[in-house]
Amino acid sequence: MALNRDEAGKVTGLKFDFTDLEPVKVKDVKCPLCGGEVIQTLFGYGCANYSKDNPESCKFAIGTIAGVKLKEAQVKELLLRGKTEVIKGFIAKTGMMFDAPLKLTPEGQVTFDFPEKPRPVDTTLKCPKCGHFMKKSQWYYECECGFKVAHTVAKVELEEAVMQELFETGKTKKK
Ligand SMILES: [Zn+2]
Ligand SMILES: [Zn+2]
Repeated sequence: MALNRDEAGKVTGLKFDFTDLEPVKVKDVKCPLCGGEVIQTLFGYGCANYSKDNPESCKFAIGTIAGVKLKEAQVKELLLRGKTEVIKGFIAKTGMMFDAPLKLTPEGQVTFDFPEKPRPVDTTLKCPKCGHFMKKSQWYYECECGFKVAHTVAKVELEEAVMQELFETGKTKKK
């Protein structure tokens, strides 16, 4: 970038010259694929060894992720630790906002690091629809027939016995 001046030497504006632009390096980190420098690009961050003229060149790049352009500190965290703290404000395809940590795969892809869902556990609760035993998952009592019901209502966890009563009598004694 340079200043545009008129003949009298007065500054009239700014002149962009992209061929002159020095790539901005992200300090202290290396490309996870080839060990090259990581630089800021028009789209986010990428490997300095990438060349659009060379199809064999390193293609490591981090662009906008679900609507979020990562801050340099977050890119550093990702490259140094392999994952980030929770980053806020991602936008899902459905339009829903969500927060999640990111992680770096061995292939140099950036993905969401969602915690693994706990596996559903067996219960002695019988499904009111088909009579099979239901399983308790993170959020639901659920049955292989497809019937499911949230086990936590208004932040109160409903125990199996309470659920059984509800299924058998259609209501519970306790409020
Ligand atoms: Zn690279
Ligand atoms: Zn069932």
